[in-house]
Amino acid sequence: MTALAIPAAGLRERARDLARHYGAAKLANAALAELGYRLRTRDPLGDPTTLVVELTTHCQLRCPLCPTGIAAPGRTRQHIRAEDFQAIVDRYRRTALRLFLTDWGEPLLHPRAAELIAYAESRGLWTAISTNGMHLPDDLARALVEARLSHATFSIDGASQESYERYRVRGELATVLGNVERLVAARNALGSRRPHVSWQFLVFRHNQHEVEAARAKARELGVELDVRAGGLGGPNESPHEGRSAPDKLAWLVDDPRWPEARGYFAAEPYLEDRHCWWLWKALVVSPTGSAPPCCCTFDERHDVGNVFTSGPDEVRRSPRARRMRAVFRGDPLPAGEPVVCERCDVFKRPV
Ligand code: SF4
Ligand code: SF4
Repeated sequence: MTALAIPAAGLRERARDLARHYGAAKLANAALAELGYRLRTRDPLGDPTTLVVELTTHCQLRCPLCPTGIAAPGRTRQHIRAEDFQAIVDRYRRTALRLFLTDWGEPLLHPRAAELIAYAESRGLWTAISTNGMHLPDDLARALVEARLSHATFSIDGASQESYERYRVRGELATVLGNVERLVAARNALGSRRPHVSWQFLVFRHNQHEVEAARAKARELGVELDVRAGGLGGPNESPHEGRSAPDKLAWLVDDPRWPEARGYFAAEPYLEDRHCWWLWKALVVSPTGSAPPCCCTFDERHDVGNVFTSGPDEVRRSPRARRMRAVFRGDPLPAGEPVVCERCDVFKRPV
């Protein structure tokens, strides 16, 4: 079946989803948040359009460039409490456009993952998980479909066990592919179009020769293949600090089909030619309530406050959050401790 062959029932479902996820109030808030970003206002305008509320910081894999994978200190390992999760959903259900449930852990290890997703979707939030795909029994696959999860990304960086496990240490390719198939089968059996399922293939030097094999396998499974260059995520104080370390550069793809990896090699000071949108348009919340400024920073010392104890509005206007935005406003920096954004090489700062 091609992607264009959408049955009438599918179109109706899609129209209902659009209406539920993107009402007028959300679009008005998105315009306001965008205005604040473009004007580089001292405090954000409106509510965040992107929420990252992490279900858990636990993970069963040991990926070598991930601070969770190497058990780096710096962020508390725990599942989010249901009542804390629900409070954030209730606060932003009329304004946020999307809710991501993954940052530094494996979301499906949360024992109430499907229930929490169902809660968010029932309140009109578009939800997405990014999963390593190792834990997805039949009942959970069915529950995710019934929860009306909008998007599931499986992280599978290889088409052979040998390549795959170079990065996804402790992962089993056959198990993960079986679980992709299980989720697609559950979705089809329940007559749903959701979740949209994608296979994310991070291209590194050791697996770049397997992209086409992965593409063929993804087609067979009936899922989209999303190929992108693997970066240097790691236990860095700033997102890409130490990017010239030879042991890390050895991972990076050198195939010109993925030029974005070149940013790590070149003398260019930034990976993106725009100022940081996270500081105006997003809110990231760890299971403890501690709020990193973006999804890139791991260490809690860089967080801007605690959403559960201070409230999200206070956190977004905290002195540290203001100092981070000041970095991009070109203002003299207010007094206080330096912030991680002052040495971040992802987004372009004023010269
Ligand atoms: S990259 Fe993802 S799957 Fe790998 S250790 Fe980190 S959280 Fe787990
Ligand atoms: S400037 Fe860098 S460290 Fe700061 S919020 Fe943006 S991506 Fe994160």
